[in-house]
Amino acid sequence: MEKRTQRRTFIKQSIGASLAMGAHPMLAGNLLANENQPSAFLQTPLSYAFNALEPNIDAMTMELHYTKHAAAYTKNLNEAAVAEIKGVNLSIEEVLRKISSFSVKMRNNGGGHFNHEFFWKTMKPGASVLHDGKLKESILSSFNSFDNFKSKLSDAAMSRFGSGWAWLYVDEKKLLQIGSTPNQDNPLMDVSNIKGAPILGLDVWEHAYYLKYQNRRAEYVSNWFNLIDWKKVEERLIVLG
Ligand code: MN
Repeated sequence: MEKRTQRRTFIKQSIGASLAMGAHPMLAGNLLANENQPSAFLQTPLSYAFNALEPNIDAMTMELHYTKHAAAYTKNLNEAAVAEIKGVNLSIEEVLRKISSFSVKMRNNGGGHFNHEFFWKTMKPGASVLHDGKLKESILSSFNSFDNFKSKLSDAAMSRFGSGWAWLYVDEKKLLQIGSTPNQDNPLMDVSNIKGAPILGLDVWEHAYYLKYQNRRAEYVSNWFNLIDWKKVEERLIVLG
């Protein structure tokens, strides 16, 4: 019994170490996968507590969202990967870029996995400040003012009928764009109407806000701006060059 616990701890620590060293996520996945199966996609631990985003997002919503909704996308993505990827190591981004060649199950759950991992890292507890720098300059030059940017992103979130996501993304001409996608689609997907590299994403599925806000999506969207980790968003922009 003790041995088994030690082994489990060792596996967990190995994964943590691989991720900490910046290893390709698929390598970490290999530690858990059967050798005849493709590598597992993993839900990374939240870097903050479920209640850390209160009062903007309540603890119960965060816990259900992370441990039930997002966990299910990751689990179902792994099932689809076993059936469709068959041992070929592909990153989630590579899968999404050619999602038209996979099943609807892969599209919904691959998108769901990527979008949620992205979403958790787009938010942080504490003050949300957009400091001077490349991102602020790009936002001001693309949208004239921060208020106009905020209003455009909010409109994208509000006008998405039913479930989906609002995005700030960089298009192929390296221009900042705002748009939205239905369901768990995102701008990386070859089937998406808006295409590019997302740097900020807002989940407007009811499961993201209903317990606290009920039908008041506008209030959720407005409060969500208090949680944006602008430093993280700027890092994503800088990596794109
Ligand atoms: Mn969600």
